[in-house]
Amino acid sequence: MIHRQMLVGGHWVDALGGATFERHNPATGQVVGAVPLGGAKEARHAVDAATDALPGWRSTPARDRARILHRAAELLLQRSDEIAPLITQEEGKPITAARKEVAAAAELLTWYAEEGRRAYGQWIPDPVSDRRLLTIRQPVGVAAAITPWNVPVSMIARKVGPALAAGCTVVVKPAEQTPLSGLAVAEVLHEAGAPAGVVNVITGDAPEIGQALLADERVRKISFTGSTEVGRLLMRGAAAHVKRVSLELGGSAPFLVLDDADLDLVARDLASTKFRNAGQACVSPNRVLVARPFMAELADRLADAVAALRVGNGLDEATDVGPLVEPAGVDKVEAHVKDALAKGARGVVGGRRLTDGPHAAGHFYAPTVLADVTLDMLVTQEETFGPVAALIPVDDLEQAIAQANDTPFGLAAYLYTRDISRAVRVAEALEFGMVGVNDSRIAAVEAPFGGVKSSGIGREGGHEGLDEFLETKLIALGVH
Ligand code: ADP
Repeated sequence: MIHRQMLVGGHWVDALGGATFERHNPATGQVVGAVPLGGAKEARHAVDAATDALPGWRSTPARDRARILHRAAELLLQRSDEIAPLITQEEGKPITAARKEVAAAAELLTWYAEEGRRAYGQWIPDPVSDRRLLTIRQPVGVAAAITPWNVPVSMIARKVGPALAAGCTVVVKPAEQTPLSGLAVAEVLHEAGAPAGVVNVITGDAPEIGQALLADERVRKISFTGSTEVGRLLMRGAAAHVKRVSLELGGSAPFLVLDDADLDLVARDLASTKFRNAGQACVSPNRVLVARPFMAELADRLADAVAALRVGNGLDEATDVGPLVEPAGVDKVEAHVKDALAKGARGVVGGRRLTDGPHAAGHFYAPTVLADVTLDMLVTQEETFGPVAALIPVDDLEQAIAQANDTPFGLAAYLYTRDISRAVRVAEALEFGMVGVNDSRIAAVEAPFGGVKSSGIGREGGHEGLDEFLETKLIALGVH
């Protein structure tokens, strides 16, 4: 069992009263480790430290900030053999996926190390001759990052990378399901040479810490990834001091299979995207809108792909699909599947909890394919966040687009067609922040990731991700 402390002001500390909480492995039920149960006081101490560190960090040359981020990226890769198993034990994903996550986190830090050196201002043509207009980019100040469990290491890198590169100092609050993974990132940044107080990572009572961060006027930015419900609460709280917010919230991704799609490509991409991280991703296809003539064949092909998936403890190199993170996740999947079957969906494969043998102590659900799903079923109305592919027949293109957009969410959408003109028209008509056309690997460090409508505000990745942590200042300079 691992014990870790929090990082505040360059020191490893316990919660003030010494309280801790444990994290259990979702595959086995065994305790993975214990971390401090911090609250409002610890959050204030972290903000004190971040505030004290800000003037020094803000004025450190971008090149020197970059060196620390590069070093942290190297350390992450060197420690992949320690950090990846930690992710798997806390979150459940297969070890092969956890290693990829660590590599992705290193990529993010590397990208932002360099991108921070290109935070250019402008010299603007002036309408009058005795003045010059110029802009500079400056860090927003102390930033708070509240991160989810499903990608616990790279989600921190995606926020802390640009924050540090921009010259902000940060207070990070990792999810309660994955605190050890979050503290492993803290350790890496600390050892890479981030000065005391530049990165602070606190674990504990989420609502209490969240409230303390919102109430503190010194925190100028909240960057959050998680549920729409908590995102709304943070946005409301941020209004008091007009803090800037970046919100990456829930999704209900449509996956459109038009009647001229390449079914081999569709089946391959859908099987890999849908069951990645046991379907626990905000960009996971939640509603597969299939041209009706393809329904039976796509269901059969997916069933074959699913039959080959090995479900088990992610620490086993052969595992393709791990457990769900919490029992409540399995309950939700079970309720959605039961509801769909009761309303007339066809169960093609899966459709049950896995409770025997190697699955007995964990939160496992069999990868599932449902065909002939209709819009009155919970699987199409809510984000299932589990290993269920719900295939909904559609009769024409207009219906497919209308149904795809008929959701409060607008994060990712996918579109499969061989017709380039249709691809362009439909991609333009989809009300989502990201559209994968004949490709389902949406995220890249070089590109902006984020949603519209109830899926959030702001973008992470690309140069846009750095903008989230920068202010633009105008300097009007009299020349007499
Ligand atoms: P999920 O349902 O995926 O767990 P949450 O939105 O509950 O998503 O969690 C995402 C992050 O938000 C986690 O770090 C969690 O601890 C944090 N969180 C949850 N509730 C609150 C809250 N009331 N205030 C601030 N942070 C919160």
